[in-house]
Amino acid sequence: VPVRDRYVYALSEGDAGMSALLGAKGAGVAEMRRIGVPVPDGFTVTTAACVAAMRSREEWPERLWDEIQEHIAALEQRTGRTLGDLDQPLLVSVRSGAARSMPGMMDTVLDVGMSERVAEALAAESGSPRFAWDSYRRLVQMYGEVVMGVPGEAFERELASLKDRRGARQDTDLTTEDLKQLATVFRGIVRQSTGHDLPDDPHEQLRRAVDAVFRSWDSPRAQVYRRLNTIPDDLGTAVNIMQMVYGNKGSTSATGVCFTRNPATGARERYGEFLLNAQGEDVVAGVRTPRPLAELEKVLPDAVARLRTVMDQLESHFGDMQDIEFTVEDGVLYVLQVRTGKRTAAAALKVARDLVAEGRIDVTTALRRIDPAQLDQVLHPTLDPSHHAVPLTHGLNASPGAAVGRIALDADGAAARGATGEDVVLVRWETTPDDIHGVAAAQGVLTAHGGMTSHAAVVARGMGTPCVAGAADLHIDLAARTVTIGGAVLTESDVITLDGSTGQVYAGALPLVPPRITDDFSTVLGWADDVRRLGVRANADTAADAARARELGAEGIGLCRTEHMFMAPDRLPVVQRMILADDPTDRQAALDELLPMQQSDFEQIYTAMSGLPVAVRLIDPPLHEFLPDLTEQALLVRQLETDGPAERLARERALLDRITRLTETNPMLGTRGVRLALLHPEIVVMQTRAIIRAALAVRRRGIDPHVEIMVPLVAFAEELRRVRELVAATADEELARGGAADLGYRVGTMIELPRAALLAGEIAEHADFFSFGTNDLTQTALGISRDDAEASFLTSYARSGVVPADPFATLDEPGVGELVRIGLGRARRADPGLEAGVCGEHGGDPASIIVLDGLGVDYVSCSPFRVPVARLAAAHARL
Ligand code: ADP
Ligand code: MG
Ligand code: MG
Repeated sequence: VPVRDRYVYALSEGDAGMSALLGAKGAGVAEMRRIGVPVPDGFTVTTAACVAAMRSREEWPERLWDEIQEHIAALEQRTGRTLGDLDQPLLVSVRSGAARSMPGMMDTVLDVGMSERVAEALAAESGSPRFAWDSYRRLVQMYGEVVMGVPGEAFERELASLKDRRGARQDTDLTTEDLKQLATVFRGIVRQSTGHDLPDDPHEQLRRAVDAVFRSWDSPRAQVYRRLNTIPDDLGTAVNIMQMVYGNKGSTSATGVCFTRNPATGARERYGEFLLNAQGEDVVAGVRTPRPLAELEKVLPDAVARLRTVMDQLESHFGDMQDIEFTVEDGVLYVLQVRTGKRTAAAALKVARDLVAEGRIDVTTALRRIDPAQLDQVLHPTLDPSHHAVPLTHGLNASPGAAVGRIALDADGAAARGATGEDVVLVRWETTPDDIHGVAAAQGVLTAHGGMTSHAAVVARGMGTPCVAGAADLHIDLAARTVTIGGAVLTESDVITLDGSTGQVYAGALPLVPPRITDDFSTVLGWADDVRRLGVRANADTAADAARARELGAEGIGLCRTEHMFMAPDRLPVVQRMILADDPTDRQAALDELLPMQQSDFEQIYTAMSGLPVAVRLIDPPLHEFLPDLTEQALLVRQLETDGPAERLARERALLDRITRLTETNPMLGTRGVRLALLHPEIVVMQTRAIIRAALAVRRRGIDPHVEIMVPLVAFAEELRRVRELVAATADEELARGGAADLGYRVGTMIELPRAALLAGEIAEHADFFSFGTNDLTQTALGISRDDAEASFLTSYARSGVVPADPFATLDEPGVGELVRIGLGRARRADPGLEAGVCGEHGGDPASIIVLDGLGVDYVSCSPFRVPVARLAAAHARL
């Protein structure tokens, strides 16, 4: 038979390169056999067989069963044992194993070939009746559950009650008679629950076990796992049929799992757990608490010595940390599985660094192995993974890390309590820019509304504050000052814990483990820096953020949002006075008051970023965002009309009037960005003065400021030309007055409207640099409102595959990516040296960074905490 036209491969025919066909487990076992690691004999039914069998639902492909029987016959020949034989019975395991490892998601049946008569035979042959009957009751239990669909608890309950009656603490304390009786009771359970007897015929057992393993590919948990790990649904699982080796043969037998390095820390130490006198599933299923590997050494020194050698051999053969399943039968070691060990981000960094230092792998391989997205884990405190708490509810894992604190139901309360040093978690329906001070003061943020790029999420990620957004089962009663989370009624004196990495919410304080910027971490990022082409800047509005960003390797600030500085509680009243001023003199007075405040912010930021560029964006949002809410103001006026002092009423009415006039139906497409700048040139003048005066001031202190001024929301070249003229006139005047005409500054623009991308050639004539604002560009190119869409249709669009991913999280390459490509192309035809960055959320998203690298932008700019992720992702783009 030509190789391609068959469904079954002997172990001796496989190797590590064949995991698509033989599954990772089958290929791994075959490879171990090839390099002389002791494995049980057997063969593998291919993933293609599973796909064919699943496709036709009832029927297996024609030759499959014949092929399996041929291989069973060959296995019987090689082992000198026969299925169902009453002198020397062969027992096999029937094991699932997909191309990409899906630990524990599919099924496996052990001890296939068992029956009452075979158990008698095995008892006589081995001289250990206890082991024979233990194996039999295991078959009835696993086969009953996996193949015949009996709920597992039925067996568990019976086992527990028998142990109870016998006063046995563990199942190893049960006698041969107990186990024999248990097998009979188990058979009864199968009969009762299915109306059928468990088949005694070993061939029937085998056939149905293989079929059950095929079907376990489509079990609900396997489907969920595939969705979470983006594994295609049509790959199928291989089935490995292997001779049983017995870890349950008494006190010189054992089963266990080990790692060649510590998977939590990456430390170079052999790490493992085992159980004496047990079969494989016991260790992972937690039937008994396993013991550390070092203890096995005392009982079975030879087997452990062998295991050590094998661990070293496998690690150096595969060149990475390995996860190994083993069994010791009567002192003899067998290895049953090997795979690349899953590890925490901290361990991934350490293992990569150590393997390079040990000369096992090169830097490129090491970089390739570290998932940039996983680095988030090491940048925030996380829940101690050993907790057993049950979550109250869950939402979107919007900003990673864990937070513990008392509930605060509004931003002012969070800010006030946070200022006293109290740990609070801000719990809101949703958050608005007004809540920023509360978010800043909180350990974490929990909202009922909003998605991954909701304000709460973006702001929280920017600050490194853990956030769970859009938690469905959350009801806030502001009048009663209570919140109901997953049925639990809590008040502001209750503590909750958020896990922003999983989206889970817990009652009480769960233990945390702190983040660490280790040597391993900086070593790996240093390698990434040597490889990447893209620059990485940070989006930062405060000196603290700027300093943190620099520590994390940012090469400047790509977006400094000046309006966040307006939101601070001491400044908002001045900003409001500026907006509400009726005559130019009053307005100028308010602006004069704001100027030194902005200047001092810029001084601090330039200081933190000395020697590196700082791109300051001129005011962007519509002015009404700085004023009270329209509805609330209307209610206030209504109330004052009945019982308020006349003077106050007049004032609030005037305010209401102003808010009404500023309110727009569609503010995101309204009077904001450059439009606001042209409407109120006095704001631009004030901001420019602050920007330049700050630069002059820090320069006198030996700081080296690199000033970039960025104009948002430009659609027409003429808009930029006019604002630029104003900025330049103001800046030059300031420089001349400061006697520092040599201090350079650059004026550029954001490209965040489709027209700007298309007309980039014209716009480039007035810009020293571009920064693609891909958040707004996505909104305006797709015509999808970022603030509303995730709560309504966008999440389901992504889940049901209308769009491949949330376009606000991962750049829409064919659409928005194309606009960036066109914009860059046209701009650089006009000005080949034009520098261009990206400052949307996409600048911190690994998948988007790879696309942006390909498009030829010069740098990305992201939240400070995403900087390391971006550095590594930018390196991945070049591997
Ligand atoms: P999973 O993919 O869920 O880990 P496995 O196919 O690896 O399932 O089987 C689970 C455990 O069963 C293994 O770790 C091993 O201990 C045990 N096992 C599997 N096959 C055999 C065998 N031939 N002999 C002894 N134990 C086995
Ligand atoms: Mg396994
Ligand atoms: Mg924008």
